[in-house]
Amino acid sequence: MEKEYCVKCGKETPYTKDVPIDQRDCYIEGAGQLCDDCFIEIYG
Ligand SMILES: [Zn+2]
Repeated sequence: MEKEYCVKCGKETPYTKDVPIDQRDCYIEGAGQLCDDCFIEIYG
């Protein structure tokens, strides 16, 4: 299954595309999946 990549930096995330978004951390509705680093950078 294809991995999701961070929409900001392009780093691979732990999630595959079949993981529902409500079961993910660092997913921003309307933007997409972020990695931990970018999520912390944006949201503190
Ligand atoms: Zn990132």
